[in-house]
Amino acid sequence: MNRELVIISSKDLYLYVIFEDGEAVELRVEYKDLLKQSGNIYKGKVKRIVPAMNAAFIDIGEDREAFLPLKDINHCGELKINESVIVQVKRSAVGNKGAKLSCKVTLPGKYLVLIPNNSYVSISSKIEDKEQRENLKEHIKWLLEPFNDKEFGYIIRTSASEASDEAIIEDFISLKQLWENILKTSKKKKTPSLLYEESSKIYSILRDYAGKFSKIVSDDIKKLKEVKEYIKKNFKQEIKLEPYRKRKISLYTYYEIDKIINKILNPYVWLKNGGYLVIEETEALVSIDVNSGSHCKHKSLEETAYHTNIEAMKEIAKHLRLRDLGGIIIIDFIDMKDEEKKKALIEQFQNEIKKDKRPVKIKSFTSLGLLELTRKKIEDSLIKQLTDVCFTCTGNGFIKSKYLLMFEIEKKISEMKPFVKLTIRINPAHYKAVKKLISELKLEDSIDIISDSSQHINKFSVEREI
Ligand SMILES: [Zn+2]
Repeated sequence: MNRELVIISSKDLYLYVIFEDGEAVELRVEYKDLLKQSGNIYKGKVKRIVPAMNAAFIDIGEDREAFLPLKDINHCGELKINESVIVQVKRSAVGNKGAKLSCKVTLPGKYLVLIPNNSYVSISSKIEDKEQRENLKEHIKWLLEPFNDKEFGYIIRTSASEASDEAIIEDFISLKQLWENILKTSKKKKTPSLLYEESSKIYSILRDYAGKFSKIVSDDIKKLKEVKEYIKKNFKQEIKLEPYRKRKISLYTYYEIDKIINKILNPYVWLKNGGYLVIEETEALVSIDVNSGSHCKHKSLEETAYHTNIEAMKEIAKHLRLRDLGGIIIIDFIDMKDEEKKKALIEQFQNEIKKDKRPVKIKSFTSLGLLELTRKKIEDSLIKQLTDVCFTCTGNGFIKSKYLLMFEIEKKISEMKPFVKLTIRINPAHYKAVKKLISELKLEDSIDIISDSSQHINKFSVEREI
């Protein structure tokens, strides 16, 4: 497979786009203001504990207090108001929301992810063969035991299956030292303060793919040099680096990034056979609706449903990565009665998600025929990262109908009676409708209408002229 990484730099952010055989498969955004990043570790101050919200609020020295869900409080020890606690940002602060924290610190290395306040050892579910998993886990536990006097927990990453014993030990020791340094720093620093800054997302991308890129292109020469050094040091492999120096068109245009972003922001995804998907994110979950096209080449309805579902499933697997959808995902496939076909669909789905670097778990079909799955959420989905709430509808997705608004205006006018002269101020979009209403009420002589673009589309004002 030909995998390329494109790094585009602007004043405020980096955009990382991964292409596999020419198709964009992942896009990550990084704000240059690194304090917003997840992964950072802070010595925070406990400000409030709110059992009703199942949360504590922690001052980590940023504008907004951060949110610590109490469900993983057993990793924190006892929380006391105004005392300090070591926390890691699990989701960056976005918009009006403060950062989401956890006391369960995770430090990702090349082959292991260290979890210091936990003694549990687990292994990436990407290694499928059960026997291989068990053997590798036992081997690494045995290997690291002499070095793990504090009984730290860790997760064995997929890349560990190809690594030498020495490399794994080296990775473990460096993560352990990193954690010990964080604890040492914490004793010296005041509360609140930043103890550890997660390095640029570029390193987690390089680790996720074990440095396996056929080419890396960037318009930021300094960044490209950092990447080169990191790969040489950690993966001992040669990579073709391509600096993109000043040309007529930017790297952004050259790789048609605007099209990729539009694709991510569009809830509709068209399938080759005429069917389409609707992908919607709500607070609680992501719902994906599969719709069949009008043309069907296949004989029976059941066959058509199956073929559309298979195509939809492949596209969904791609969009999980591209949009970075996380948490609970519910897919409403086209109804299939045949249990064998449902099984076949899930089997092929398992195969498709192998390319995904985030853990994905496919559950079974529910009694209502919905397929449920979960995908690990590390940060907000790209839609959330790339958009703000719509000013006009404040996120509802709809505005008042003309009928409702005219009804409200009519009632307001009647309440103002008796009057000599009124002025109605209205958004230009409704000017004609209001004019028609006033003329139908035969009030043209006593009501002035002012078209005012600063007036919100859902609102109007009626004033009495004195
Ligand atoms: Zn809107």
